[in-house]
Amino acid sequence: MTQCLAQVAKDRGIRYFMISFTDLFGFQRAKLVPAAAIAEIQKDGAGFAGFATWLDMTPAHPDMLAMADAPGLVQLPWKPEVAWVPSDCVMDNKTVAQSPRVVLKNVLAKAIDQGFRIKTGVECEYFLINADGSAISDSMDLASKPCYDQQALMRRYDVISEICDYMLELGWGPYQNDHEDANGQFEMNWAFDDALKTADRHSFFKYMVKSVAEKHGLRATFMPKPFANLTGNGCHVHISVWSPDGATNTFDDPADEMSLSKQGYNFLGGIMQHATGLAAITNPTVNSYKRINAPRTISGATWSPNSVTWTGNNRTHMVRVPGAGRFEFRLPDGAANPYLLQAAIIAAGLDGIARNAHPGPRLDIDMYQEGHTITDAPRLPLNLLDAVRAFDGDTTLKAALGEELASAYVKLKTGEWNGYASHLTQWEREHTLDV
Ligand code: ADP
Ligand code: MG
Ligand code: MG
Ligand code: MG
Ligand code: MG
Repeated sequence: MTQCLAQVAKDRGIRYFMISFTDLFGFQRAKLVPAAAIAEIQKDGAGFAGFATWLDMTPAHPDMLAMADAPGLVQLPWKPEVAWVPSDCVMDNKTVAQSPRVVLKNVLAKAIDQGFRIKTGVECEYFLINADGSAISDSMDLASKPCYDQQALMRRYDVISEICDYMLELGWGPYQNDHEDANGQFEMNWAFDDALKTADRHSFFKYMVKSVAEKHGLRATFMPKPFANLTGNGCHVHISVWSPDGATNTFDDPADEMSLSKQGYNFLGGIMQHATGLAAITNPTVNSYKRINAPRTISGATWSPNSVTWTGNNRTHMVRVPGAGRFEFRLPDGAANPYLLQAAIIAAGLDGIARNAHPGPRLDIDMYQEGHTITDAPRLPLNLLDAVRAFDGDTTLKAALGEELASAYVKLKTGEWNGYASHLTQWEREHTLDV
């Protein structure tokens, strides 16, 4: 039975509901609905002009209605009179097939039909920067190897502990917070869970981190490569598949040298084979390609891949198997749409299982030192246009995500690329003025 939000408002003292949906570019859009009106909005939906957001629609389209998914409700720990509610988009009484949360639900429904319960965890790196976005916020955070820097971490204790306390209060099972490999960069980890739950938490996490940073007069950015000489913001995804009751990890096989089952290898095979097309989703911005394929950073390593390779517990490859019954996909970055990210990974993995895909040989080399010796591994796309073209050419991946999503995504991302390409840069003037 659907939870009655009007009753939830009374029980939990909620004055306003943020009926929120995520568009194709990963932006969250919301209507703030007073409790007095929530019964009607829960029944009829909150109205939006889809064209005004990043969705493939025209100004002539009818109203798009965001239908609250009540079980996903999160009461804002820093403002408990407000509740964030993820929602699914509907138009003309049909779900909007291009809307990211709907896409993920559709992919997950197929997985469940096949008896696969997918559990994932995300590692959302971010920078704390000045409110004007010009530089990192801590002028003392200058170490050339700043990873795990205790002193710099504790200078941001007020922000980090506030966010972690909220995750504890929300029951997410947070277990560690650290300073990451770039000056000004942090990561906070919480427990993995069912893929839709992880996607909703990923969305809320970004909103929460930005909100708490702003409260402290700072700004948080998940931009893939905000500073050219510093390590960028990754968003590693960890994946395992479980029995429908959630009791058994079917990726786990203690008899295997990596403790990965045949199903796990096949899922991984799907990721490897679809990787270049997947990049359009996992690395969705012009800026994303300045994180992967990047030259060495001040710290000595970019910590991001440039080729389609996998390995055991070695962080220089696109996929790492860090422990029994799961793998880590290190390609995605902070700009990835939380819903499309999960949907695309799962779609690729399910295809791998369906086709008995083999991931190819495991490589144990240091890719940063010896990567040039590997000539048969596909290179990751060098820019957004290559990635969008690879995605457009991957008919299997497109079909699995739905043709509506695929055509809308290719159209809008090609438009974004064209917008970028038509921009005259200083680099061009420096290199071409005297030609
Ligand atoms: P690292 O930095 O070493 O890659 P983290 O501890 O930062 O690892 O993040 C690991 C993520 O993987 C967490 O979100 C964790 O909950 C998740 N995880 C652990 N085990 C599994 C599993 N079996 N399936 C999916 N995710 C998992
Ligand atoms: Mg209006
Ligand atoms: Mg981590
Ligand atoms: Mg990290
Ligand atoms: Mg990681």
